Amino acid sequence: MDTPVNSADVIVVGGGPTGMTAAGDLARAGRSVTVLERWPQINPASRAFATMARTLEVLDARGLAEDLLAQGSTTPAVNLFAGAKVDLTHLPSRYRCGLITPQINVDRALARYAEAQGADIRRGVEVVGLVQNRDGVTVTTQHRDASVDTETTRWRAPYLVAADGAHSTIRTLLGVEFAGKSVLSSVVLADVLLTNGPAGVALTLGDTRDCFGFLVPYGDGSGSRWYRSMTWDRRNQLPDSEPVDEREVEDVLTRAMGRDVGVAEISWRSRFHCDERQIHEYRSGRVFFAGDAAHVHSPMGGQGMNTGIQDAANLAWKLDAVLGGANDAVLDTYHAERHPIGRRVLRQSGAMMRAVTVKPRVARWMRDRIAPKVLGFGPISDAIAGSFAGVTLRYPSGRGQSPLVGTRATETPLRGDRLTVLQRTPGFVLIRERGTAPVATNLIQAERTDTGPALLVRPDGYIAWAGRTAADHGWRDTLAFWTQKS
Ligand SMILES: Cc1cc2nc3c(=O)[nH]c(=O)nc-3n(C[C@H](O)[C@H](O)[C@H](O)COP(=O)(O)OP(=O)(O)OC[C@H]3O[C@@H](n4cnc5c(N)ncnc54)[C@H](O)[C@@H]3O)c2cc1C
Repeated sequence: MDTPVNSADVIVVGGGPTGMTAAGDLARAGRSVTVLERWPQINPASRAFATMARTLEVLDARGLAEDLLAQGSTTPAVNLFAGAKVDLTHLPSRYRCGLITPQINVDRALARYAEAQGADIRRGVEVVGLVQNRDGVTVTTQHRDASVDTETTRWRAPYLVAADGAHSTIRTLLGVEFAGKSVLSSVVLADVLLTNGPAGVALTLGDTRDCFGFLVPYGDGSGSRWYRSMTWDRRNQLPDSEPVDEREVEDVLTRAMGRDVGVAEISWRSRFHCDERQIHEYRSGRVFFAGDAAHVHSPMGGQGMNTGIQDAANLAWKLDAVLGGANDAVLDTYHAERHPIGRRVLRQSGAMMRAVTVKPRVARWMRDRIAPKVLGFGPISDAIAGSFAGVTLRYPSGRGQSPLVGTRATETPLRGDRLTVLQRTPGFVLIRERGTAPVATNLIQAERTDTGPALLVRPDGYIAWAGRTAADHGWRDTLAFWTQKS
């Protein structure tokens, strides 16, 4: 007898932050979506700690930012070498900071969101096979816990989102190359209690020619003395499988910070290595790669989870549009828009990692002279902060389009609710110029309060069209491009 097939509009493989964002958005748009996640529970591993401003905006458009902010602390800056710092207080966002909270809090919030929107989340279910044809994708799964159910199950959907992380099974099943290399080994993560840690709530880096230490305060600056530390020692390179010795962490922190930070306790520790890799094509037929399945890089700059969530926010509404009858070419814009962003993240975090680990004295001398000057110069500093925070990223605009197209509309001043609140209801938003009455359309509408142009805003918050007035209907052609068959 044939194995029964479960069907959905979209299958999401992987229930990390990327997969849950995609699943929640698709379910919120009214699509049936099944998440297949290998592990029975949310991954408790201590990984990402920094949620950046653009991601906070994305989370706010899903009603999740406030709760998360209440569970963590915010940091105004990242302190780098020789007094250089990335200042986040001038970001063009309502979030002029980074949120410091363990990844598990973000994972939980996104899982709750996906579930509340109606996504069918299957935990303990591992994808082991995949076949795709002209009409859809079929995956084969096995239950992780053989005592529960050893039966092989099949799932079929018109589209599949591969959000199954750095070691993506889907990538392997499709034979997709993960081009790149390992760039840093024997990096040690630990949660440390310090009696003499850096003051305040900024993220602090210390380094010498042979090591670095990076400290992230977990408290709110007023009490807790727990920090996440990331350390690396050029002279102590060990495989990931080697246990971490407490003295190793203490020694590197003292050398890197140039003083005894008073390690009183170490509660959790782990050794890992960093790769820089990216796939060449984010689309493979009816399969779309997102998050770590598409790109990995060093954790310097705290970008991976942030980029994955934003990949998913870009992809989900396009899948919904095409399932609703839009031209399939809309789905090609996912790769066109997100692949260059992934490449930029690889370069950016790679540059930071290389600047931190550079060894020659002359290069370090130059770095320590140049970096504080560059980062002390307002416009450059703001550009670097904006890029790390994701608020200055833009997607390409077409020929003849307004230069605003592809930039985010989030900070447009509106009468009534802010854009991210309006976008808690999915769909395009039409922003009329100041002082104008609503136009005939069933889109969500708002009126801007400054003198800027009328805007058509995509479901992911980026501007699709900008024009003199919402009354001249120029935006309707753009809307038709994104939502209708040509
Ligand atoms: C030390 C460290 C620090 C970091 N710090 C930051 C930071 O500060 N900020 C930041 O933005 N990022 C940071 N990152 C990166 C961040 O943790 C990842 O980028 C993020 O978890 C990627 O999310 P994802 O959903 O794409 O993949 P994952 O979180 O890896 O989720 C993939 C999911 O797919 C599941 N899966 C895999 N294979 C299968 C299968 N065959 N069937 C079913 N399910 C499957 C896995 O169980 C997993 O739950 C850090 C990473 C590390 C290692």
